[in-house]
Amino acid sequence: MTETIFKKIIDKEIPADIIHEDDISLVFRDINPVAPTHLLIIPKKPIDKISDANQEDQALLGHLFLVAGEVARKLGVEDAFRLVVNNGAGAQQTVFHLHIHLIAEREFNWPPG
Ligand code: AMP
Repeated sequence: MTETIFKKIIDKEIPADIIHEDDISLVFRDINPVAPTHLLIIPKKPIDKISDANQEDQALLGHLFLVAGEVARKLGVEDAFRLVVNNGAGAQQTVFHLHIHLIAEREFNWPPG
């Protein structure tokens, strides 16, 4: 895979507004937010997209969801937030390093767009 902008953020080559970091994951604010709270939860391991994850990533993927809940509580938005994973260009994925969007403090509709 080619190096993505998220790899540069992990390596601290470019700045980001980091909310959480541990050995496995990094959470930072989206540079182009669609809501007052819009975070990106990413693994440090480079996985292009969720459909490329495999059995050995099971604990990592679980960790990302636990971190989502943790940062939501930390920011006080745990009662209403949405997690979104875009998989592939046809689903509007633009950065090919797996990430979960955490969006909060806006009105939500269903079905999503
Ligand atoms: P996706 O369209 O699901 O691939 O989401 C990629 C997200 O990354 C978009 O919401 C972008 O606004 C965001 N993004 C791109 N570059 C940066 C950056 N340097 N720092 C923070 N967020 C970024």
